[in-house]
Formats: sequence, structure tokens, C-alpha cells
Amino acid sequence: METKSAWLKYDEAGKKEIFFFNEGYKAFLSKCKTERECVTEAISQAEKLGYKNLSDIIENGQILQAGDKVYANCMGKALAIFIVGKASMEKGMTILGAHIDSPRLDLKQNPLYEDGGLAMLDTHYYGGVKKYQWTALPLAMHGVVAKKDGTIITISVGEDEHDPVFGVSDLLVHLSATQLDKKGKVVVEGEDLNLNVGNIPSLDEKEPVKKAILQIIKEKYGFEEEDFLSAEIEIVPAGAARDYGFDRSMIMGYGHDDRVCAYPSMKAVFDLGESKEPVPERTVLCLLVDKEEIGSVGATGMQSRFFENTVAELMNATGTYTEIGLRRALANSKMLSSDVSAAFDPNYPDVMEKKNAAYLGNGLCFNKFTGSGGKSGSNDANAEYLAEIRKVLDAEHVSWQTCELGKVDQGGGGTIAFIMAKYGMEVIDSGVAVHNMHAPWELVSKVDVYEAYMGYLTFLRNIGL
Ligand code: MN
Ligand code: MN
Repeated sequence: METKSAWLKYDEAGKKEIFFFNEGYKAFLSKCKTERECVTEAISQAEKLGYKNLSDIIENGQILQAGDKVYANCMGKALAIFIVGKASMEKGMTILGAHIDSPRLDLKQNPLYEDGGLAMLDTHYYGGVKKYQWTALPLAMHGVVAKKDGTIITISVGEDEHDPVFGVSDLLVHLSATQLDKKGKVVVEGEDLNLNVGNIPSLDEKEPVKKAILQIIKEKYGFEEEDFLSAEIEIVPAGAARDYGFDRSMIMGYGHDDRVCAYPSMKAVFDLGESKEPVPERTVLCLLVDKEEIGSVGATGMQSRFFENTVAELMNATGTYTEIGLRRALANSKMLSSDVSAAFDPNYPDVMEKKNAAYLGNGLCFNKFTGSGGKSGSNDANAEYLAEIRKVLDAEHVSWQTCELGKVDQGGGGTIAFIMAKYGMEVIDSGVAVHNMHAPWELVSKVDVYEAYMGYLTFLRNIGL
């Protein structure tokens, strides 16, 4: 089955709408470079639209009704946004899920040292990265420092044009004879991803540059060296997302994986909750999770009980919680587990099987299965569920394509889909195709972002009815 460019569907007014939607996405992507920043921004947008914090509802013993809008914040790094539906929750929810963590460099717990007259910060990379891609480019620092007295200091340096930036040096080509003979994997090694953060010495005899940098940190940000011990500071590419191509059809930005699915998922739920829309039949949920890039681990990753506990709390707040009711709500749910797909790249055609590759501009992607080495680690969605999705999306003329992550035995990858499938719900991998996946600057087509949004909205309105 050949798919066509989704751009062909749109006249000038339609293209204007696509570009307008993507301005919102670009702003989100430029502003939210960490999972915490995504959660903060999503809550801020949700509250403006009347969403209430589920923990306040619980504390006040309030009873939720159909049409009520709530969110549940998991440690500031994962978020569930609900609209309570008219039907009993036992009938199942309609769920959009995506992850909001992205590959990056994390500061170590004891990061700061001095060498060669430079103050340096040692990092440990997060997620799957080609390490050589993270040298010789402007990097920004985002995160939090938690002090013993309970205060949390928020750090964001390198995004404003007047801010300084940081960076990992690369070896000059003139002296790279040995390095360039190495395998790509070890051209730049993980332990060598050290960030240069300063050069002016203090008058101290020992580690004068490091001391001077600590003085600046203390004055500007109010913390001491030992506070790095309880900090989460992420080093990410500095700068805003930008239009790409003469026709401005694409966006280059950091962290499309997976904010390019998170943003339209969140927007679709928000727009469904608008007063002109009827109250949805089934309870809808946008789930934004952390730690996907390192196996969905931890309390804020998809493997945590946060999701299940939150659904139990929500049922309880609607006055319908029972253990069997919860199990039914989970099993009867239907989900799009959204994550980026690899788009066909004319520079690297050999890793793709053209009939089953995603193409930039051809719409929302569906991966029946992901995984590697004979679908290992995959969810492999049910044919019946795919048929239901085809029917619903085609009725609304949403552009979509099916795809695989590259040729058989070329590599592969996993998502959160198989974790949700454990509840016995219908779930399929969907999402937006990208170039440069996991590189500092990734690329998407604006029409795919828009088709994702339209597809998600259509899914929420029509699936499971
Ligand atoms: Mn992803
Ligand atoms: Mn990824």
C-alpha cells in the first residue's frame, strides 16, 4: 500500500492551520527540554483550562462527575491528564501515552573538577546516544538542585541569547589520526563527555578555576559544591527549535523524541475538553511518562504503579472503585502508545525496507510491532484493533501510514506499549516519523505533527464506541 504526502490534502487555509499548530509545538519544544519542564508546562496549561489536581480532590473528599477535568502529577516528572467520561470507568478508558524524557548528558553526583586551567563538569549520558554527536556544539544546563533545607533551586542556563553556553570539546582533525581509525562507538567515549564551564582562576593556590566557578554558582544560584550530590542537572542542546527547509515544512529541534507525540496528545485531550465539545463517552487520558529512554524504570517510568494507582484513585473519586472494577477499567481500555518512528532517509536507504518504511510528510505512523531480532521486546498489536483504528481514521480522512523500525535484523527499539499491554488492554505503537532520532537536533515534518494531533483527536472521539 502506497501512502501519499499529507500536504497534498491541504489548500492555503489548511496549510496556514498546520503552520499555526506547529508554532505552538515549537514554543513547547523550545521551552520544555526536560521531563520536569514538560510536566510544569503541561500543568500550567491544564490549570488555565480548569483541570484540577487529583490530590486536592482526594484531600477534600470531592466526588467527580462526568465532564470533570483532573490531572495527577507524579513527582514532577510524569503526568496523567483525565476527562471523566459519561460511561462507567469499568467500560475502559481511551488513552494517549507518550514519553517526555529525551537522550541527553546528566551531571554526575560529584561532577566538578579542574584540569588544564579549565573548570569541568563530568557527565553520564542518558539514553541511546552516538557520543561523538555531543561534542563541539552549544549546550545548555537545565535541572534542579535540592538542598538539605528543603529548597529546590531551578536551573536553566544557555537558552536566552544573552546566556553563556557550555560544551564538550572535540579533538582537532589535525591530531585525529589515531582517533579516526577507531570504531564509531569509541571515537568519543562516555567517560570523556566532560563539560567545559570556565577558565578564569581565583587567587586560591589549589584548583583556582574550580573555586572561582563555585563562587559564581554560589552568588548566582545559591548553592554549594556538595549540593550537586542531590541535584538532577541535564545537559541538552542550547537554543530554540527552528523551521527547516526553504518551504519551512519541517522543524529541527531537540527532543522531538518524544515530545512530538506528547504535545499533540496533550492538545488533543485539552481540545476534547473544550466546552463546545460534548462530554466524552469513555474517560479519556493523556499519559506523559519519564524514563522511557532507559527502560521505563523508576517511580516516574511506565513500569511504576503510578498509572494503576492513579486510575484506582480516579475511580474512587468517582465513587465507583472496586478491585474488579479497576481490573476491568484497565483491561477494557484502548490506547495509542505514541513514540517516534524512523522516517526513510535518502542518505541511508540501505537500512530501510521501502514498502514498510515511514516517510516524512505521509502522516501519523502505526507500528503494529517494534522490537528487534524477530520482534523481541515488541507489543505486536492485534489485527482487530488495527482494523478499528483504520475505520475510525479513514472516516475522518486522517493521513496515516504503517511502518517498521528499519529492515529485519538491522537493529530495532522498544516503547512503553508492551507495559500497558500487560493489563490486557488493546494498545498499538503510533507516532510521528523523524530523521536524526536521538541526535542533538532531530527533524520532523509539520504536517505529521498536525496529522498526529488530528489522529489523536479522532481516536479520542470515536474509538471503542
Ligand atoms: Mn521515544
Ligand atoms: Mn528514543
